[in-house]
Amino acid sequence: MDDLVPPRQADISYETEHPVRYETAGPVAWIVMDRPKYNNAQNSQMTYALDDAFRRAIDDDAIKVIVLAGEGKHFSAGHDIGTPGRDVAKSFERRLLWADHVNKPGAEMLYTREQEVYLGMCRRWRDAPKPTIAAVQGACIAGGLMLAWVCDFIVATDDAFFQDPVVRMGIPGVEYFAHAFELPPRVAKEFLMLGERMSAERAHHFGMVNRLSTRDALKADVQAMAEKLAEQPRLGLWLTKQAVNHVEELRGKRAAMDAVFHMHHFAHAQSDLTRGDSLGGQDARTMVAANKKQAGEG
Ligand code: ZN
Repeated sequence: MDDLVPPRQADISYETEHPVRYETAGPVAWIVMDRPKYNNAQNSQMTYALDDAFRRAIDDDAIKVIVLAGEGKHFSAGHDIGTPGRDVAKSFERRLLWADHVNKPGAEMLYTREQEVYLGMCRRWRDAPKPTIAAVQGACIAGGLMLAWVCDFIVATDDAFFQDPVVRMGIPGVEYFAHAFELPPRVAKEFLMLGERMSAERAHHFGMVNRLSTRDALKADVQAMAEKLAEQPRLGLWLTKQAVNHVEELRGKRAAMDAVFHMHHFAHAQSDLTRGDSLGGQDARTMVAANKKQAGEG
């Protein structure tokens, strides 16, 4: 969900050199998104730091379980569409075998970038050979959903909420299209087309959230669950995870995501052709205002 004409390189101003913290607690690695000032909006700097952290946790045989968490009030506000650290125009050393996106013309730029940093990275993290738990508090919006969904388990506080409002941009959901696998189809349509917040309780009802917790208890609850998982045999956990993921593939998850990824990019291109930007005339400010209005926060 990025502008077609990227900001100049010089415009990027990172508020931190370390947008992700890596901590361990016994056999558990805590990967913590650490841009609380921007509600953990995900720029590429964070994406590659997350990938480094997953690599580190996977390489360490003493780590049995990986937790993905967010520092501050919210888990994640989604992809970075408006902070000073927004870095869509910057080249990074790719982790998948894609070309650099920066010098590509027209719709090819975003298509190339999002293959790597959104769809590709999410699939890569989903396939991590160790159990992963998302610890979610507050907002889990759009690109934030992708981060929670790639984890094997989601534990959410009672005040957490989930939302994908990108239909407002003319886009049929975020790049990692798991909506209709995480939710029953009719509920997925409601979630996408109305773009409303879904409470943790309702998400739990549909099985999208494994367990409910509270702000005070989230860390301890997730750590306890992780330690219980860590008692199981390593290979047994990996094989079990692969078995269930394979069932999702047999139900068409990967093929469905590939199809929708192309609709997503058709929508970006249509928006650019008709309005001159790829986000349907929306930016972080207008999206936040519309979300607040819809949530009745005035
Ligand atoms: Zn996009």
